[in-house]
Order: sequence, then C-alpha cells, then structure tokens
Amino acid sequence: MSSPTPVAVTIDESRCIADKGCTVCVDVCPLDLLAIDMKKGKAYMQFDECWYCMPCEQDCPTGAVKVSIPYLLR
Ligand code: SF4
Ligand code: SF4
Repeated sequence: MSSPTPVAVTIDESRCIADKGCTVCVDVCPLDLLAIDMKKGKAYMQFDECWYCMPCEQDCPTGAVKVSIPYLLR
C-alpha cells in the first residue's frame, strides 16, 4: 500500500484571510517556511522542512493552519 507523503503544514484556504492582509503564520515561523500566494491571496507551505514548533497553527486568527506531526515524533 502506498500513500502520498503528507505535507507538514496545510492551510484551509476557505478560512485563510491572507487576502485581507494577514501574514501571521508567515511572520511567526522561525524557518520562514510559509509564504503568501499573492495570486490566490492564501498562505501555503513553500518549504517542507518543518520543526513542528506550532506557533503557526496556534497564532492563526482563523484556525486555518493545520500542522500534521508525524506519528513517530508524537
Ligand atoms: S495566519 Fe492564518 S489567516 Fe493568516 S495568513 Fe496564515 S493561514 Fe492565513
Ligand atoms: S510548525 Fe514551526 S517550523 Fe513548522 S511551519 Fe509552523 S512555525 Fe514553521
């Protein structure tokens, strides 16, 4: 059985308000992994090298950020 490698951080685009000027998740990530897609006006993970430190998920004002911690790290 094969399954696609999950991206560490997913953004619920229906909740993301980057198009209203929010950049919280981009600002709090210590590794600058997140970015705003200017065309869509939504945040996304540009580099998948997550430390699972969590502020992006905790600080997003709309709860759009979901960090998927790998099972082995829990
Ligand atoms: S913090 Fe949340 S609402 Fe703001 S840009 Fe990031 S995902 Fe979008
Ligand atoms: S969990 Fe930490 S390293 Fe990963 S995207 Fe969020 S802020 Fe960046």
